[in-house]
Amino acid sequence: MFPVPLFTSRASARVWIAPAVLTALILVVLGLLLWIITLRDFKEEDHQHFLDVRDAQQSLLHKLAANRDFFLLLTEQMVEGRLDAETFQHKAARYVADNPELINITWADHDFIIRWTAPYEPNKQVLGLKLSLAEPERASRLARQTGQPAYTRPFKVIQGIVAVEIYVPVFREGDFLGTFGGIYSLEGLLRNGISEEIRERNQACLVDDSGSVVGTCVAGPGERTDPRLTQVLPLGADVPDLGLRLARYRNGWAWDLWLLSVLSFALAVGVGWSMWALRRYLRAQEQAEQALYDNYTLLNSILEGTNNAIFVKDLDGRYLLVNAAGARMLGASAEAIVGQDDRGVLPPEAAARIMELDRQVMASGEGQAVDLEIEVDGVLHTYLSSKNPFRDRQGRIIGLIGVARDISARKRAEEVLKESEAKYRLLFRAVTDGLIIFDAETRKVLEANEAACRLYGYTSEKFSQLSVYDLSAEPERSKQRIDAMLATGLVRVSPVYHKTSDGTILTLEISSGSFTWNEQRLFFAVIRDIAEQQKLDQMKDDMLSAVSHEMRTPLTAMLGFAEFMLENPVEPDQLKEYLGIICKETGRLKELIDNLLDLQRLRAGFGMSDLQPVDIGELLRELGTFFARQSSLHQLSWDAPQTSAVLLGNRELLHQALSNLLSNAIRYSPEGGLISLSARVEVEEGQVVFSVQDQGQGIPPESRKQIFSRFFRIDNRDGTRVGGSGLGLPLVKEIAEAHAGRVWVESEEGVGSTFYMSIPLRPKLPQKVKAGS
Ligand code: ADP
Repeated sequence: MFPVPLFTSRASARVWIAPAVLTALILVVLGLLLWIITLRDFKEEDHQHFLDVRDAQQSLLHKLAANRDFFLLLTEQMVEGRLDAETFQHKAARYVADNPELINITWADHDFIIRWTAPYEPNKQVLGLKLSLAEPERASRLARQTGQPAYTRPFKVIQGIVAVEIYVPVFREGDFLGTFGGIYSLEGLLRNGISEEIRERNQACLVDDSGSVVGTCVAGPGERTDPRLTQVLPLGADVPDLGLRLARYRNGWAWDLWLLSVLSFALAVGVGWSMWALRRYLRAQEQAEQALYDNYTLLNSILEGTNNAIFVKDLDGRYLLVNAAGARMLGASAEAIVGQDDRGVLPPEAAARIMELDRQVMASGEGQAVDLEIEVDGVLHTYLSSKNPFRDRQGRIIGLIGVARDISARKRAEEVLKESEAKYRLLFRAVTDGLIIFDAETRKVLEANEAACRLYGYTSEKFSQLSVYDLSAEPERSKQRIDAMLATGLVRVSPVYHKTSDGTILTLEISSGSFTWNEQRLFFAVIRDIAEQQKLDQMKDDMLSAVSHEMRTPLTAMLGFAEFMLENPVEPDQLKEYLGIICKETGRLKELIDNLLDLQRLRAGFGMSDLQPVDIGELLRELGTFFARQSSLHQLSWDAPQTSAVLLGNRELLHQALSNLLSNAIRYSPEGGLISLSARVEVEEGQVVFSVQDQGQGIPPESRKQIFSRFFRIDNRDGTRVGGSGLGLPLVKEIAEAHAGRVWVESEEGVGSTFYMSIPLRPKLPQKVKAGS
């Protein structure tokens, strides 16, 4: 197991609380500071504003009072009769010009009909009109009733200007003469009635009872007013329901306050941004941790789920980590293994080997994969272990990572497979019959054993380039046979004609069958060369007919003479002659059968088990002495070696072979002549060469090879034959070969023949012969 990483997302989530609190504190402190400074300034301003409002009110009231005084002056002059239209025009027009808050001044008679107006030109249209509008009518009548000047409430005059009118009544000795009226432009009143200095600092408006602005406010250069520094003062009892509202323009920030605000704002933004960045960082970290945790879980699942042992070691070979499969492999718990090196968990010899390997990997920096045999709980396991250096971020080797897989079962299976494959390969090679495996689809040779290579004369490389049709001498028939075989199964076909690499036709018996290997359909062919067998069969047939034929002649003679003697009276001399013939024929028959049996025995290896030393000189002397007595026609000489030469062989058989050659020499030299028997010891070749020479009829060249075949005999020129079985020379050949020697003949027709037989002095006999014992 490997250590679970620490996850800090919960803790990190609380990290941003401290800066948040700090920021809040800073903001509160700054706020307080700001509030104190602002409060201090406000008080000062409030006082200033109070003074402005009072001054403005006084100034307005003063203006109204001054104007009213002017109207009273006119009243006085009218009562005294000193005011005519012209004087009025002159005085009033000038007054209006000096006091622009007044739009005009009118005189209305006791019927409230306007008679005069000044200035005349812009207002002449009102002359003759009655004061019938609601407010002028109300105020003018009120003035008449009370005898005191009366103001209208604000109303819109004809030009759309919001105005207030004052009506001053004129009585002479109790008679009502009329009213002087003055129209105030409210805006003009504000402009003219309040000093410019105050208007610069404040917005001045006239408001009604409800506080709503009446007419137009007079604005200074400021834009926004401070609601806290806004005050309304009434314009006194004379002007009903009208008040002056003065609203102070908000002052620009003091530079230090402004700087403080900017700094506070910057601080707040900075802290906010930092916190946002911190939050983002924490979120990213959280995600990274989640990803790490996911990876950890995945890695852990892989580590614990795999059957492969996985381990990590430090530079000293101590285990840093080992998974469950690794712990099983080492036969201990992961906790017990971690912190130890291999010496603590494995047998000393295996530990030393593995640690040496680890050192090589860490020193060379190159990975290695090796098969390791380790004994765990008394059982030998084979592991395929691959090791690679474990590097840190800088690429320095800080240990080793290894993966090991238990391949014992696979290894055992491989060995068993290898063994059985070797067995089958051996069998495949050792089979004396040709064995070829073909692809059933392409019919190409996949593999051929050595016997097949020998038989066809191809190397195994060449073989694998051929198809069955390259081997067959009758491809069309081969195709049909293979198709049939693939459809039906195992078949044996004979004779089949194939050709060798040099074009020689082979007569074969082929057994074939199909099978499947690695999902590939194949077929095999076991090939046997039956040409020899056929020849042998032929030879057997020939021999049988030859034997029957050879036996028939003496048997016919014997039967004929015996029947004749049974059925006819026979003279004693005749009887003797006939019995002599029967005896001779019986002898021939016996010789024939003896020769046949001898041949058979030799073929089977009889007589060659106990080799004895044979004195060559002694053998020649014995034969010479014997044959010298056999014929009066011939002269026999024998030439034995001077020193006593001895060979290792079967004396009886050698005697028989030389006897056959000598008796042939006598028989096939009908006119007599010299017969020489000799033996030449060739020390260097390690052999002795016997020869029998005659001066007989000789052997025609075309028959010289065949005379060693069974039952082969040469007819004389006249068609007659010297009696014989045709088995003499084959027997000689068989005896020579049984001694690992050979026979041959040199001959000239009409001159004579020399038969040679070479026999090794120390024959190394083939196993087959020895086994015959
Ligand atoms: P056979 O019993 O007929 O002699 P062999 O096998 O001994 O049988 O000889 C085979 C044939 O070889 C003989 O029939 C004969 O024609 C020929 N032959 C053998 N020896 C001689 C020889 N010395 N001179 C001439 N012909 C010989």
